[in-house]
Amino acid sequence: MTELIYPQMPEHSLVVLIGPSGAGKSTIARTWPASQVLSLDALREVVSDDAGDQDATGDAVAALHLLLEARMRRRLFTVVDATNVTRSAREPLIAAAQRNDMLPIAVMVATLGSVCIERQGPRPANRTVPEDVVVKQHQAMVASHRTLKAEGFSEIVFSDSLYRLLPFLERLSETRQADLGLDGSVGLGDLNLVSRVFGEEILPLWQWKPGSNVADGDRVAEIRLGQQYLTLALRTDVDGEGDVGFDVLVPCPHDDECTGRAWVPAYSVTCLFRALNGDLDDDEDIVCTAHGPNNGDDQDDDLEAQDLEVIHG
Ligand SMILES: [Zn+2]
Repeated sequence: MTELIYPQMPEHSLVVLIGPSGAGKSTIARTWPASQVLSLDALREVVSDDAGDQDATGDAVAALHLLLEARMRRRLFTVVDATNVTRSAREPLIAAAQRNDMLPIAVMVATLGSVCIERQGPRPANRTVPEDVVVKQHQAMVASHRTLKAEGFSEIVFSDSLYRLLPFLERLSETRQADLGLDGSVGLGDLNLVSRVFGEEILPLWQWKPGSNVADGDRVAEIRLGQQYLTLALRTDVDGEGDVGFDVLVPCPHDDECTGRAWVPAYSVTCLFRALNGDLDDDEDIVCTAHGPNNGDDQDDDLEAQDLEVIHG
């Protein structure tokens, strides 16, 4: 084995991960930017909607080779995330690298076979690889170590000697700093909280509604896509303890014609889904500005409504 100084991989490298299912290849691959990683599982999902569909492997491999060639031609650093335990799987990868004067580096993800098998347990059913297949993949990986140099790999390293945690955290940190605007950009600003609570995917649909008074002076926002939308309020003193959180507007559970506004806390994107889907329409945490809290008991609700009518004349 060559003494390469890691984590510095040469810029013009093709990193070929080699290891059985469950070895942890994808965990290592994710430490590089997503654009640099060609994942066979991901491509299986692209072509078939199912990352575990073995019938889609042929098409996925063809797609991988096409994308690899495009990246090698541009001489871009690339990681191939697939088992790559057979010579026939590795050959076209090495050839693509060599055609384009790229350095093929073999990275052995030599996790114990028993650990690889254990890790199949918690996986989704479509991603579970049978034990005998994992054992065979593991044996093939061990056997291939002897031939990698002859196959054309410039370097052969074990994944344990890659110090990938530091560059991984560095990249995550840069993203976070940019979100916070600490890199000199405007950052996400008041969308940081939105991103933390509901996830960054919601941000393109999020619009603050300055001047709206539907939430009694609290900030109002809308999530809209075409005709479908949700109205949200930013509460800055939840439970009187200064906590910050969101409420989402739902129909009043007491009265279809209610002139008040019924709000229910939204803790996550799941609450948004349930609110739009109508699943929160009778939630016990709803508070209507006209009817008050929803105690979930229809009879009492009616009585309360009648009481209110009496009060309001
Ligand atoms: Zn109401």
